[in-house]
Amino acid sequence: MGKVVEATAAKTEPVAHADRDHALLSASSAHRWLNCTPAPYLEAKHPDTTSEAAEEGTAAHELAEHKLRQLLDMPTTRPESEWHVEEMDDYTDQYADHVMAELTRARDTDPAAFLSIEERLDFSHIVPDGFGTGDALILGGDTLTIVDLKYGKGVEVSAVGNPQMRLYALGALATYGMIYDIEKVRMVIFQPRIGNVSVDEITADELTTWAEDVVRPAAEKAIAGEGDLKAGEWCRFCRHAAQCPALAAEMFAHVPTSAEHVPAAPDPDTLTDDQIATIVTHAGELKKWLTKVESYALAQATEGHNYPGLKLVEGRSVRKYTDEADVARTVEAAGEDPYKPREVLGITAMTKHLGKKRFEDLLGDYVHKPEGKPALVPESDKRPALELATPENVFQPIEKGA
Ligand code: SF4
Repeated sequence: MGKVVEATAAKTEPVAHADRDHALLSASSAHRWLNCTPAPYLEAKHPDTTSEAAEEGTAAHELAEHKLRQLLDMPTTRPESEWHVEEMDDYTDQYADHVMAELTRARDTDPAAFLSIEERLDFSHIVPDGFGTGDALILGGDTLTIVDLKYGKGVEVSAVGNPQMRLYALGALATYGMIYDIEKVRMVIFQPRIGNVSVDEITADELTTWAEDVVRPAAEKAIAGEGDLKAGEWCRFCRHAAQCPALAAEMFAHVPTSAEHVPAAPDPDTLTDDQIATIVTHAGELKKWLTKVESYALAQATEGHNYPGLKLVEGRSVRKYTDEADVARTVEAAGEDPYKPREVLGITAMTKHLGKKRFEDLLGDYVHKPEGKPALVPESDKRPALELATPENVFQPIEKGA
């Protein structure tokens, strides 16, 4: 880990991350309500469920906070969680090192620069009841730096134009803007599991203009549940997604349908290239949306709700032993081996079993990555396009005299 740099400001007692309040217009959902102002109102009707990924993220943030507190010589006790595996230790070390490097960077220009961790940031002057928690804030010279740890690995998060980071910055400006002459805001997303460090900078004036021109009017509508539904990539985690007519219309827009909005499922041979390209581009989100609607409808039906033309039936099930120990005894008594052949653990399970470093030391030479099967993806995908074998690039002209 990096060298210890003394903090000159930080809150004193950690608050359990899972116990923190959530505002209706939260910073983490700002991308959604800034684009679709009725969303928070509609989402409030659905239970706020937690996921394993969210629990893992909370555990990572608690461990990361502990590590920063250690580096800053602040009172702390290592939190305990079943999620705290060696991999999380590595990643939270990387995060703590990155924050300390940002502090050192700030101190290069201003020796009085200081770091505040896990500070509650209140931006309710712009968004009703708006607040959030800044993982790490650094004030030095004319610059405010905010570092946010993202522990997910499913979606790469960009700091560029990120409304959550900007709202946190507005909260920090409200607290420190009177005392310090902050001209520049630097926002850093640190997402260690996919090696993503994304940085964006904005002037304090631009940030304030964005708050007044974009955020305040949207927040006023959102808190009143007003405005038009607008579907887009921000629907991904919306709790109203399964019932939302705007999202359904958006999904059907990519699928050939009959006049009654029933997917027509034509033979792929009859589709145009443009239709096929549109469907393939949206296939992932379409499948996810279909699954969401199916799960929602099943949950409602098991509560007694009736849908026209649908009925609840017993699903298929597979046969099971009533008692595995008895089965093993009986088969052994008959002179047969009842057990599966032993199998070597897969790479993920073995890494978990041995720890990342030991896995690398012991098995690094035994791991190879075979070529992946071709996949058809949108042009915006970061992977380079495959070069297919053609007679032109397979058969090279034979040079004279060769
Ligand atoms: S699913 Fe999308 S369009 Fe519908 S309420 Fe949620 S954010 Fe708005």
